[in-house]
Amino acid sequence: MPEDTRPARSVRVGGMLVGYHAVCPRKAWYSMRGLWMEHESDDVRLGRLLDETAYARRTRPALVTAEAPDGTPLVAKLDGVDLRAGVLHETKKGRAEDHAHRLQLRFYLWVLRLAGVARADGTPLTGRLDYPALRRTEPVELEPEHEARLAETVTAVAALARRPSPPPRHPRRTFCRRCAFEPLCYG
Ligand code: SF4
Repeated sequence: MPEDTRPARSVRVGGMLVGYHAVCPRKAWYSMRGLWMEHESDDVRLGRLLDETAYARRTRPALVTAEAPDGTPLVAKLDGVDLRAGVLHETKKGRAEDHAHRLQLRFYLWVLRLAGVARADGTPLTGRLDYPALRRTEPVELEPEHEARLAETVTAVAALARRPSPPPRHPRRTFCRRCAFEPLCYG
């Protein structure tokens, strides 16, 4: 059967979904159905606590919306924008899924670019991943090849939203032991 590439207008794709998709598409599928079990996990609570303490001084939440090249609506909930420095911060607990962290932050930078949001001098905002527990920060830039990958990812997430059943489980069983959806996947 040919792949369904229609934009899913009923789904608004956000940064957390994009990050989940990079880690496990099945996790993104559950999340799109309102199952946000990770809100209850210790890791997420700790992440939120780190957000609220280590970087509280520059936090000013903002919601930015845009449209992907395929027409899918996008939303970026930004918790750590340092407008004066032109830096968008994303705070994480550990680096186990750092490829997904970078993709999520680049998604936010992309949404800002698509929405026409830039610094006062017209240059785009840059990103910074903060790992306060590890005392590390990592600069994250948005290059054209990243934008192409993000566009593909958003199309894939929108197609996932149309699936009537979840995609296959993550191939590594050990990986699933750290996931809040494990009881659903392995019952
Ligand atoms: S338990 Fe494994 S397969 Fe299920 S959503 Fe989590 S990572 Fe994916």
